Amino acid sequence: MYTGNELREMFLKFFESKGHKRLPSASLIPKDDPTLLLTVAGMVPFKPYFMRKVEPPFPRATTAQKCVRTPDLENVGVTARHHTFFEMLGNFSFGDYFKSEVIPWAWEYVTEVLKIPVNQLWITVHPEDEDARQLWLEKAGVQPERILNDPENLWAAGPVGPCGYCSEIYVDLGIERGCGKPDCAVGCDCDRFLEIWNLVFMQYNRDENGMLTPLPKQNIDTGMGLERIAAVMQGAETNFDTDLFRPIIDKVAEIAGVQYHVEAKTDIALKVVADHTRAVSFMLSDGIRPGRDGRGYVLRRILRRAIRYARLLGIDKPFLEPVFRIIQRDYAHHYPELKENENFILNHLRLEEKNFQATLEQGTLMIQEKVKSLQEAVENILSGADAFNLYETYGFPVELTEEILAEQGLSVDMAGYEIAAEEHRRLAKEQSQQMRAVQESPAIAAKAKALGTTSFDGYDVLGENVKIEALFVNGEAVTEAAEGDEVLCFLSQTPFYAESGGQVADLGILRTVRAEAQLLEVKKGVTGTYYHKLLVTQGILHTGEMVEALVDQEARKATARHHSATHLLQAALRSVLGEHVQQAGSLVTPEHLRFDFTHFHAMTENEIQRVEDQLNQAILGNLSVSTAQMGIEEAKGSGATALFGEKYGDVVRVVSMGDYSKELCGGTHARATGDIGLVKILSEGGIGAGLRRIEAVAGLASLDYTRKLDAERLELAQLLKAQPADLTKRVQGLVTQVHDLEKELQQQTAKMAKYEVEGLMQRVKEVEGVAVIAAAVQASDMDALRNMADMLRDKLKSGVIILGAPVEGKVNWVTLVNPTGLSGLHAGQIIKEVAKITGGGGGGRPDMAQAGGKDPAKLGEALDQVPRIIQSFLRK
Ligand code: ATP
Ligand code: MG
Repeated sequence: MYTGNELREMFLKFFESKGHKRLPSASLIPKDDPTLLLTVAGMVPFKPYFMRKVEPPFPRATTAQKCVRTPDLENVGVTARHHTFFEMLGNFSFGDYFKSEVIPWAWEYVTEVLKIPVNQLWITVHPEDEDARQLWLEKAGVQPERILNDPENLWAAGPVGPCGYCSEIYVDLGIERGCGKPDCAVGCDCDRFLEIWNLVFMQYNRDENGMLTPLPKQNIDTGMGLERIAAVMQGAETNFDTDLFRPIIDKVAEIAGVQYHVEAKTDIALKVVADHTRAVSFMLSDGIRPGRDGRGYVLRRILRRAIRYARLLGIDKPFLEPVFRIIQRDYAHHYPELKENENFILNHLRLEEKNFQATLEQGTLMIQEKVKSLQEAVENILSGADAFNLYETYGFPVELTEEILAEQGLSVDMAGYEIAAEEHRRLAKEQSQQMRAVQESPAIAAKAKALGTTSFDGYDVLGENVKIEALFVNGEAVTEAAEGDEVLCFLSQTPFYAESGGQVADLGILRTVRAEAQLLEVKKGVTGTYYHKLLVTQGILHTGEMVEALVDQEARKATARHHSATHLLQAALRSVLGEHVQQAGSLVTPEHLRFDFTHFHAMTENEIQRVEDQLNQAILGNLSVSTAQMGIEEAKGSGATALFGEKYGDVVRVVSMGDYSKELCGGTHARATGDIGLVKILSEGGIGAGLRRIEAVAGLASLDYTRKLDAERLELAQLLKAQPADLTKRVQGLVTQVHDLEKELQQQTAKMAKYEVEGLMQRVKEVEGVAVIAAAVQASDMDALRNMADMLRDKLKSGVIILGAPVEGKVNWVTLVNPTGLSGLHAGQIIKEVAKITGGGGGGRPDMAQAGGKDPAKLGEALDQVPRIIQSFLRK
């Protein structure tokens, strides 16, 4: 009998022998894929290859991929075959082989390697996929009566992305495993016919609108559930009775002091606890942290469900850790993250368990009370606010509340729940923004002091291996930081430039084999320590481990160009405007430079051009850029420009560009001025008394700028249907034309409104002595409608005015009651009733109210109802 581990290995080996590259499982957190919360299938990590967003580095791959599927949550333990977390074995072709290879291979694997008897196997194909049917018949030799049509054989991982027809392999586990219904066959929900493998022939991409377009190249993606194939091969009644699960179940049963396989209800709970604990262990091992939204919420929900089911089994002490230990023992050799991140996993398991255990009891009592009062009031829906309160106060995920209520035939007002949750999120966000303003914590300050100056290696290298000296989350020292965490990090040394001298900090990443973090900010503290602010984007970082620190080279080069350009600009300004020019501030980024300086007049067009010319000549001269360390006095003596009022240390760094520029500067620079490329001044302007500011771009940013100008010019020309060279003439003509038209329009509108108002005055009706005008009119927006109503009021003197205007598939309503309080009428109340008929709502003051409706077709009906509505208010 094969063990689960052997079956995993056999599959990978088989496809290796067919030329596939074996890859480790990717993280449960899909990388760079906002459309998916979790990895739900083996193909997910390969989506960029299938869509050719990234050129696949190899044509074939095979994996055992960790997957989590929450839609199957409630099936867990109820069916024999569903888990939240499971392993999917798969083979993949990226534009390489297609149906005619994969079908015979799959058949070979199932019948010759696994040796499943042919008379237990069934195949399904999409009714329109004639190719697949033929291949099963001819190449694999499957009997025709064993190939069934299934119109649902269309597969996609998520709403957007690659998809195509698929073909499934089922195993008939025997009549005694069936539900006994006369129509029980392949596709029945019961556990007799087990889908073990799905072969997807990926040939389309589905976009946000559901449109299918053929992929540039056809692909293959298959998925075989390891737990399911283990159940088949081990003759196990359910997935849970395989060696992949039985030890976990046994542990849970031991802790609960119950027997497995005695009572159905107990078995379900044992399976749920085992499955869910396994799922959360794996999720934590990939750095997912229990949280309030996103995948953190999914994790918490599964975890709490595990705890609740454990309760049902009578477990009233912490059980997650011992169960995790079994999972770790059985799986860590293949998934080492279960070992590496043990602390992180255990910390969160313990914390969540402690918090939830403590409130579970109270929460259950509270739910029972709610249930009782609902039943007494003969109601069956729990209010959204109550459900949210249960979540907020007792940590009951709403899905859990729903489940518990459903057991009593009750439900939750989910719309109300969403409103309560949204309001809460808004408040929480405000609070967290306030939190950000918190000052450096004592823990951080002490560590920075102990570490002292961080050596900056970034003048010479753009990547190096460094050690993580310390990590802080929210000011507290931590030993690990996981996906989604914003952390402050101290390194043994650093290639990252810290924001200083106007030059922004470097961009870059830190990475290990399994984790990656994005650099958000680098600052140098008073102790000389570099503060790296990071966002962990994948996996878990640990204190004390070595990481690769990589500077974003493109950004660094672009920044260096702008910094060197700033030095040349300062020299050019001094040469053109005079030696009084002093730097007063600067900003240097990859995208542009900003330079503030002292000067008393606006620069003339001619001065700007001369500065630009000089600067670019210095660039074309390709002057070499050199740096030297020297004493401050020596530096000043050599004529280097220093920042006025700036305090320098004893030893300074001097950056020279040929004989043209020499400045005290700690920044990073181009190697020679020719590297800077074109520098273009974008603007010059005043920013205070005697202070000017220039903004400019250099290098590729200049190219971008000229391209943008070109594109704008072209777009304008197209819009105006003119040749680019004739743009000015064409615009002058249009300006005159618009002016004339505006004048004419004004006259016409005034005339029209007057006519319309006069026409409406003919339609005044009496409703029990009150004058009423109710009419549909044309008005382009609310303002125009209000104007018309105001004009009518001036004429009508006393009465009620109700105007409705259809606008772009909707209805705008306005109502006036004049004078205010006329016969006890209230404009807001009237409009509410009227607008309701057109599928809308609104309200307002007693004298004036506005509303909207969704159905212009009901406008006439609503107006017909006006007399009745007004009567009803008059009689109140
Ligand atoms: P089912 O209809 O049984 O839920 P599925 O059609 O959702 O299966 P696929 O999306 O085709 O399954 O996934 C490919 C394979 O992954 C399946 O053939 C099965 O072996 C396995 N699999 C899918 N969902 C689960 C699950 N929740 N637990 C365990 N294995 C699963
Ligand atoms: Mg499914």
